[in-house]
Amino acid sequence: MEIIQGKGVFGAVAVGKIFFYRRQDANIIHRTVSDALKEKERYENARDSSIAQLSALYEKALAEAGEESAQIFDIHRMMLDDRDYNDSVINIIETQLVNAEYAVSVTSENFAGMFSSMDDEYMQARSADVKDISDRIIRNLIGENYSSPEISEPCIICADDLTPSETLNMDKSRILAFATKHGSSTSHTAILARTMNIPAVVGLDGISEELDGKFAAIDGYTGRLYIEPNEETLALITNKQEQDKIQKAILEQLKGKDNVTSDGRRIDIFANIGGPQDVDAVIANDAGGIGLFRSEFLYLESSDYPTEQVQLSAYRRVLEAMSGKKVVIRTMDIGADKQIEYFKLDKEENPALGYRAIRICLTRRNIFRTQLRALLRASVYGNLAVMFPMITSVEEVHEIKEIIDDVKSELASESIPFSDTIELGVMIETPAAAVISDILAQEVDFFSVGTNDLTQYTLAADRQNPKLEPFCDTHHEAVLRLIEYSAKSAHKYGKWIGICGELAADLSLTERWLRIGIDELSVSPAYILPLRDAVRKI
Ligand code: PEP
Ligand code: MG
Repeated sequence: MEIIQGKGVFGAVAVGKIFFYRRQDANIIHRTVSDALKEKERYENARDSSIAQLSALYEKALAEAGEESAQIFDIHRMMLDDRDYNDSVINIIETQLVNAEYAVSVTSENFAGMFSSMDDEYMQARSADVKDISDRIIRNLIGENYSSPEISEPCIICADDLTPSETLNMDKSRILAFATKHGSSTSHTAILARTMNIPAVVGLDGISEELDGKFAAIDGYTGRLYIEPNEETLALITNKQEQDKIQKAILEQLKGKDNVTSDGRRIDIFANIGGPQDVDAVIANDAGGIGLFRSEFLYLESSDYPTEQVQLSAYRRVLEAMSGKKVVIRTMDIGADKQIEYFKLDKEENPALGYRAIRICLTRRNIFRTQLRALLRASVYGNLAVMFPMITSVEEVHEIKEIIDDVKSELASESIPFSDTIELGVMIETPAAAVISDILAQEVDFFSVGTNDLTQYTLAADRQNPKLEPFCDTHHEAVLRLIEYSAKSAHKYGKWIGICGELAADLSLTERWLRIGIDELSVSPAYILPLRDAVRKI
């Protein structure tokens, strides 16, 4: 058995034969021409035909794979209208007196190269789109048709990369999974895999044509491709496949349904995520929004402080993917169990009671301001709410608001836009915050209860110490009363309250949450539909 490690962009598993897709490149001949006007006309005609084909493809994708997949062809249509792209082709024809196909291929290489060298992963993925539209124009110029690959049985499709047109032209009933050398989680292959609920792994450096016809297993959760898997691996993958089937059955029944009890009480069910890579699961499980984006994972995955640009691009991706649904991003909660070398934090006797989260942000302002700038800039791309962890006093909230106002003025002076409707909230995860929740509610738009920390601080039991588990009664009346009081405080001042700690997914408490008027529960994506099921059975 050989294991090839890549990056899973859609969590599901499959077993089957590999079909290695090889692109038949269009044969481009470099010719010098005497009549530039004629070449320009040929280009314009090929471009018009391409636009017409893309309109047809848009309709096909809409019918077969839904709006999200179809959008890519709309984007392609717009790219064909791009002034820089068109100017480049025309300019090459006029100045170098060359044929249109050659001018398009040079433009394609220049633009694709420019996109792939960008830092932003989303922009890098656009390189495949440029190649795709250029290839279409060239084939129209040459008079060649797109030929879709002949796949005779359901297969794991391996390829160096796949363009949107190629993926859409494949017979869906024959695709078990996608496994590509290039591509990203925002590539079209990933989007299509998500809508089709099939595994997809990108970044598989070790794949080649030699794999064609080999038996394999693929795990989109771990990003692994197993070539000729042994029995143990096969059993593991088959078991995951069974689990997925059960989950899928629930998902199919409950997708699109309301989170409403039999007597008409409603509650929002949102998802907890650690980064943009989790959004596929959020969407697949039909979450109403994101209730907790633990932004510290961006810092944990990095070897130095993530820049404003890196953060902006991650927040933007999540906000755009959620298409206007609420996304609550928590400012970084570093310290305690989440230690990072480059923060150079001192060793502490009691890290959970120590220098962490908002305490770092309020004392090392540069780190905080960078994150706030990224968040504010990202706010124009969706429905953003920001919340702050480990709050213990109203003074901290005043200080945070002052810093935000200052960062807003700074952005305004640089003419950088941001939304003026961003909700601000605090986490209720210290007993102090719960006890003064009536005061805090007058300062913020919402609360989100972090039951993991609230339990450890209320019961004085370190959540990291397994020996203390018997003393960590998560249903302890003290914890539940603090939550209830916080809910009363929030509602007294017309604010909403959610729960984002693990207790939100505890089905034995769902009825209680509804009774005390909790407005939102935020849980791991896999718990969304079981929780919806529980709500609907009350
Ligand atoms: C919590 O404390 O309940 C919470 C959601 O935050 P974290 O688990 O990240 O500390
Ligand atoms: Mg916490």
